[in-house]
Amino acid sequence: MADEQFLNSEQELQREQFRSRDNETPQMQQMMQGQTANANGIPCPKCGTVNDPDATYCALCGAFLITGVCPNCGSEIDPDADFCEACHHYIKTDVCSFCGASFNEQDVYCPECGQPRGGIVCPACHTLNDFSFCKQCGRPLTDQARAMLQQVRQMPEYRELVAIAQEYDELQMQLPYETEQDKMRDDELQDLRKRVLTLLAEDKGQHIDVKPVPKRQRVTKEELADMKSRKLDQLAELLNRMAIPEDPSPATVRNYAMAQKPSGVRLAWKCNYKSALHSSPCGCAKPQMGGKWVILGHNSKQDIKDDK
Ligand SMILES: [Zn+2]
Ligand SMILES: [Zn+2]
Ligand SMILES: [Zn+2]
Ligand SMILES: [Zn+2]
Ligand SMILES: [Zn+2]
Repeated sequence: MADEQFLNSEQELQREQFRSRDNETPQMQQMMQGQTANANGIPCPKCGTVNDPDATYCALCGAFLITGVCPNCGSEIDPDADFCEACHHYIKTDVCSFCGASFNEQDVYCPECGQPRGGIVCPACHTLNDFSFCKQCGRPLTDQARAMLQQVRQMPEYRELVAIAQEYDELQMQLPYETEQDKMRDDELQDLRKRVLTLLAEDKGQHIDVKPVPKRQRVTKEELADMKSRKLDQLAELLNRMAIPEDPSPATVRNYAMAQKPSGVRLAWKCNYKSALHSSPCGCAKPQMGGKWVILGHNSKQDIKDDK
């Protein structure tokens, strides 16, 4: 009871001090953080300045005052999200999108990683990126991204992943026997080659044993489809094992996921936040909740949410 009274009187004191704004100190501004809008106005979540009740931006530091709304397009948004899935903008003004370090509203370059807050243009495909890997072509754009790539390449799972993805890619290139005629034509060509080589050898008075050209592993359409789907199953299982758990830093999750993505297979990023399919974690509002790459098959009815 006594504590409650004390708290109440302390809150009253804060309000009292606040009414006489001339006496404002940084400590008081700190104390006022977290207060919700009241008759006196909206306290800025960053600097504590109390703004007009109908203000949108802080008069002192310029911070966006309305939580749960994208400052760029006005869409409803999770207060912890750093990216708006409606307008595809990075929306944190005080956190570096590339490394997650805090910076000031005025900083043009991140004091921690040195990247420009306006984004990096990919030298390969000219896409403007807010994050460390190119969302379009997957190229690492920062030193951090390159370091992450090195780290991931050391992982046994990643090596296995790349090997299986490559085997799948080779199966994609392979032509099946469409018909029995294909098979016969192949045999005829082998025969012809053997006769020509034998004749040439006899011309020179030699005798040779013509070894048949090792037939490329040729299979029927059904067999090939079966081989491909087995490879995809292996890939899916491996991607499952490589799923990324929750992590406090969205930048780390985005980097890690982009670094482990194999090429040659159509993949989508499935986030734990909304179980949505994104073309990459760069399109997810809360990758810090974890997620994984999933395979998009030919017959897949799933649509990528933010497909470009
Ligand atoms: Zn402010
Ligand atoms: Zn938006
Ligand atoms: Zn940074
Ligand atoms: Zn690119
Ligand atoms: Zn998402």
